[in-house]
Amino acid sequence: MGRSEELFEQAVKVLPGGVNSPVRAYRAVGMAPRFITKADGPFIWDEDGEKYIDYVCSWGPMILGHNHPVIREAVERAVKDGLSFGAPTRREVEIARLMTELVPNIEMVRMVNSGTEAVMSAVRLARGATGRDKIIKFEGCYHGHSDCLLVNAGSSALAGGHPSSAGVPEDIVKHTLTAQFNDLSSVEELLNAWPGQIACIIVEPVAANMGVVNPAPGFLEGLRKLCDESGALLIFDEVITGFRLALGGAQEYFGVRADLVTFGKIIGGGMPVGAYCGSRALMEQVAPCGPVYQAGTLSGNPVAMAAGLAQLTYLKEHPQVYDHIAAKAKWLAEGMRQAVAETGAPVVVNQIGSLLSPFFTPTAVTRFVDAKGSDVTMYARYFQGMLERGVALAPAQFEAMFVSEAHGQAQLEATLMAVRATLAAL
Ligand code: PMP
Repeated sequence: MGRSEELFEQAVKVLPGGVNSPVRAYRAVGMAPRFITKADGPFIWDEDGEKYIDYVCSWGPMILGHNHPVIREAVERAVKDGLSFGAPTRREVEIARLMTELVPNIEMVRMVNSGTEAVMSAVRLARGATGRDKIIKFEGCYHGHSDCLLVNAGSSALAGGHPSSAGVPEDIVKHTLTAQFNDLSSVEELLNAWPGQIACIIVEPVAANMGVVNPAPGFLEGLRKLCDESGALLIFDEVITGFRLALGGAQEYFGVRADLVTFGKIIGGGMPVGAYCGSRALMEQVAPCGPVYQAGTLSGNPVAMAAGLAQLTYLKEHPQVYDHIAAKAKWLAEGMRQAVAETGAPVVVNQIGSLLSPFFTPTAVTRFVDAKGSDVTMYARYFQGMLERGVALAPAQFEAMFVSEAHGQAQLEATLMAVRATLAAL
């Protein structure tokens, strides 16, 4: 038994499932999770000293790779001045100014501590601003674990077979309506069924919690139009896509305007951070300016802001990162498709920017039903084979592979070799 297995035995006695977030438990792949001791660049190391090429990248924040010196040093400097003040600091202004400069259509930012909080607060704001209760989300999209969004959710909710949660009253989720990603008519039906009652449509502009599914041409534009016609606000949940698809996120990448945008992951550089953003008119509905209440003891934490500011500043100064990571992900996706063709495995690979994922199904994956058709047992075996060959992937089908600036050609080639060997062995 390895040290990870030993630690996991202890962990399950004191942590539900041995973890502090479900997907980490490796349940979907039927093994004990690796316990990680350190990470650097494209690599992570486990308790047994095994080294892996990492495509989880802390589920997205590590766009520059792990332990990037610029971020680490910014954090080290910040820590020396104290960990938390519960008072405004200069860095909060700097990061908000930077975000409003880089991201289209946002004038103001409210920092919170997670993507969940960001989305929960943005939905509250949409309801407060419109005076409407109902929201539309998409099946298989994940927006964190707040009550009203834990309905037909993706990510680990999906992998665990519980797309909705116990403990969420029917009375609360009756206001959450579910449409189909890439199917505008399913949205129109809901808007027609509840005229003048929809506060917002919330969408992951690239669905990345059912595996990676690109928006069909016209889908996001169609949502914009439906929102304009119905008076609903369009919320882009850019917790994954923000500062990843482009500096300006999905709004810039697809040229579609959102009313409210949520961020997490990359804007914290690896520290716990989220944010919701929008026009001044909307954001000044939030306390202390307006009637929509939202607060946080550790929000805008000085150490977290130092990490986020360092990462976003680096990205602004090195915009070529976006071409690099997209080219690497494309190279990987094409190589994987070739390996699939050689072995005859029934696998399709979706890729956009630095996000990609293989689905164990022979047919194109453009909708949630296609993604759900993936053979998760095959994915589990693929995951195990890749891990044995030194490549750490998300331990569940319905997640993305994240390519970072730190992944070099040597690691990409090693990854493809592992893919070929694993597929051949399946
Ligand atoms: N929205 C999206 C699109 C996400 O992918 C996630 C988490 N993966 C969240 C919201 C929730 O963020 P957090 O886990 O930081 O609460």
